[in-house]
Amino acid sequence: MSNSNNGTIVTKGAKEDRFQGHDYYNIDELLEEDHLLARQAVRDWVKQEVSPIIETYAEKAECPTHLFKGLAEIGAFGPSLPAEYGCGGMDEIAYGIIMQELERGDSGIRSMASVQGSLVMYPIYKFGSEEQRRKYLPKLASGELIGCFGLTEPDHGSNPSGMVTNIKDDGDAYILNGAKMWITNSPLADIAVVWAKDESGKIRGLIVEKGMKGFSAPEIHGKWSLRASITGELVFEDVRVPKENLLPNVAGLKGPLSCLSKARYGIAWGVIGAAMDCYDSALRYSQEREQFGKPIGQFQLTQKKLAEMITEITKAQLLAWRLGTLANKGKATPAQISMAKRNNVNMALVIAREARQIHGGMGITNEYPIMRHMMNLETVLTYEGTHDIHLLITGMDVTGLNAFK
Ligand SMILES: Cc1cc2nc3c(=O)[nH]c(=O)nc-3n(C[C@H](O)[C@H](O)[C@H](O)COP(=O)(O)OP(=O)(O)OC[C@H]3O[C@@H](n4cnc5c(N)ncnc54)[C@H](O)[C@@H]3O)c2cc1C
Repeated sequence: MSNSNNGTIVTKGAKEDRFQGHDYYNIDELLEEDHLLARQAVRDWVKQEVSPIIETYAEKAECPTHLFKGLAEIGAFGPSLPAEYGCGGMDEIAYGIIMQELERGDSGIRSMASVQGSLVMYPIYKFGSEEQRRKYLPKLASGELIGCFGLTEPDHGSNPSGMVTNIKDDGDAYILNGAKMWITNSPLADIAVVWAKDESGKIRGLIVEKGMKGFSAPEIHGKWSLRASITGELVFEDVRVPKENLLPNVAGLKGPLSCLSKARYGIAWGVIGAAMDCYDSALRYSQEREQFGKPIGQFQLTQKKLAEMITEITKAQLLAWRLGTLANKGKATPAQISMAKRNNVNMALVIAREARQIHGGMGITNEYPIMRHMMNLETVLTYEGTHDIHLLITGMDVTGLNAFK
């Protein structure tokens, strides 16, 4: 490992703590004390509360709902939203690092927090009235209320502007009809931030509450991915939503898209955690497992895999950190966020596949976290904009030509 030290190059011995928790490029030096403290607190919590139980819950395809309270206690819900609403009041890098440590545990656990913070609390903060902020945000931050975000429909995934869910004006309320699909947390959510077209065809956001007549949220079963995260539909049959539940300060697709930018930013950081967990496990295994009379880590082909993994993790960390510094100044563009989401999720998935190979047959068992991460990352590659859609966003940004039209 090379450290600059008064202009000289320092080479550390192989037996020293070479990777320092995968801080291969001393990125910790770019972080502030608050970031390091938040990371340690979440890392400790994941070690204690998530790691011992996650394989069992994933195997049973059951959501560990008791973790919502703990997630609230460690400040995982809306870490970068203002403290005056009961949120974390931290910066965007702290938010990213919290997502990284959660996803080191499991992408499903990180999804529980991403949806609550970035897709439910953020739109209420950004587009809600002051009354809505005060009514919902403190309860969502403390985990007293659980929320979900309804954008995707059965026939409109990558193209949300085609949505058919709609509202009609009816005096003091809107009448909501339609259906949403693939909604994280929906079967247990107390509120849903739902995007629907009004009579003029404009997309509006509404807060729909559990118990409203005509509203149901059946669970989707049979997922081989994100098994510890609950997913469902949202079905609206003439649901009367009071007008005070409309988010007053946004109209159009930019409403849901700006929430997605916030969540995608968190994913770009989060998946680094999943990649690190796979890398950690593969590195340890390569040092312990012997074949042909020596550790498999001594074979050049294993070293190639491990060297490429740590290189890609380091590049992803730098991309996320730089994006974080831009986000802190309010300068991270949606296209920059797309690039980081796409690159880092793909990086994590490739690392999971390579790590699986290093573990040989053991890699397919639940003795190791690899297959769970790999299966989870298949969802992460697709949700919040698919791998190819993000490529087209970058393509549009650099050419000025829109491939979606
Ligand atoms: C477990 C899980 C949880 C989710 N949670 C939520 C949630 O909480 N809230 C929510 O609203 N949604 C959620 N989603 C939905 C997710 O965002 C969508 O699945 C995603 O946007 C893709 O939509 P789709 O599945 O309909 O695929 P489609 O849009 O049908 O895409 C299918 C394929 O076609 C490709 N494609 C589509 N259009 C183009 C194009 N123009 N050019 C090239 N290729 C194209 C896609 O890249 C993809 O490979 C979740 C999904 C999953 C699996």
